[in-house]
Amino acid sequence: MTHPFLDLAPMTAGHFAAIEDRVARLLDTRQDVVIMQGEALLPLEAAIRGTAGPDTVALNIVTGPYGQTFGDWLRECGATVHDLAVPFDTAVTAAQVRDAFAAHPEIGFVSLVHAEAATGNTNPVAEIGDVVREHGALFYLDAVASVGAEPVLPDAWGVDLCVIGAQKAMGGPAGVSAVSVSERAWARMAANPGAPRRSYLSLLDWKERWTDAGRTALPHAPAQVEMVALEACLERVEEAGADAVMARHARAAAATRAGVLALGGGLEPWVRDAREAAPVATTLRAPAGTDASALVARALAADPALPLAAGGGALAGEMIRVNHYGPHAGRASVAACLAALGAALADEGLAADPEAATRALGAAWDEAAGAGLSNA
Ligand SMILES: *Cc1c(COP(=O)(O)O)cnc(C)c1O
Repeated sequence: MTHPFLDLAPMTAGHFAAIEDRVARLLDTRQDVVIMQGEALLPLEAAIRGTAGPDTVALNIVTGPYGQTFGDWLRECGATVHDLAVPFDTAVTAAQVRDAFAAHPEIGFVSLVHAEAATGNTNPVAEIGDVVREHGALFYLDAVASVGAEPVLPDAWGVDLCVIGAQKAMGGPAGVSAVSVSERAWARMAANPGAPRRSYLSLLDWKERWTDAGRTALPHAPAQVEMVALEACLERVEEAGADAVMARHARAAAATRAGVLALGGGLEPWVRDAREAAPVATTLRAPAGTDASALVARALAADPALPLAAGGGALAGEMIRVNHYGPHAGRASVAACLAALGAALADEGLAADPEAATRALGAAWDEAAGAGLSNA
């Protein structure tokens, strides 16, 4: 009996290389793209362990939980780390990065998360990239939550290590991920005695045995199902048009925000400035005196398929996440989320106005369409 994801023909080197080239086109990059056989944490960790060592002075920008993890890895590599942390309900500014370089001119590595699905903010990478380039530092970017939801342009922005995953806005698999690597970043790794070799974390192994060897023989059996799923999701993004997919996410974010503001009941956008709110997910502040996890549980009891979650860790009591990415970046999905949250607020005795929320959400959706953010 045939099965859609069993008994697949073996993946050839040529097929694998073609999927890498497709990722490169999506990112509009001429850098080497390495698809790694694991979830995005694999290239995120591999890129830091490959480049950082005791000689590294790093500026680690913390705008959410991933930045904290990167700082831990950098310290483990022996790097001197200057953390630039901003409150999680805002974005970092290029001016803050400039000040950090002024205080520590020896900084040679900058790590940044583009958009944070966990906290709902997005950072101005292009402007920050200008500052990083002026100082000649290596620029590492986690674009897992931004790719597909907003432009990610490593070459234009001077990003040396740009990590993506397909599981958020691209609506793809979580089991494989990719990193684009600049010539400078390869050189830094080659000169780093601590860079992993003969290791699952080794980007240099992939360079030596795959990229530099002409991509004719795969060093290991690829994660075949995830690779064809990645190819399918890239194809789907290309067919819809990457701009249209990004526009759909921007509309979902704008509509969610407008709907929440009209809903009332004490629910508020977590990220105060709409320009700093990520298109991938909208985070909300639970009304004073309520528990975000309990509100989400109520909403999910009515419909477990809704893309709602409470904040992670310490934020579980106060933050609600509307994960309007991939298939959920649509008007019906965000409307259903707000309706369920409105009902949960009403259950708690809070005066919310679901009809006003629906109207505001629809108007914002249409207005975003008028502003050129086309395609429902
Ligand atoms: C989702 C995400 C990742 C991937 O991590 P998971 O915990 O496996 O989802 C990495 N970085 C950022 C910024 C993300 O939002």
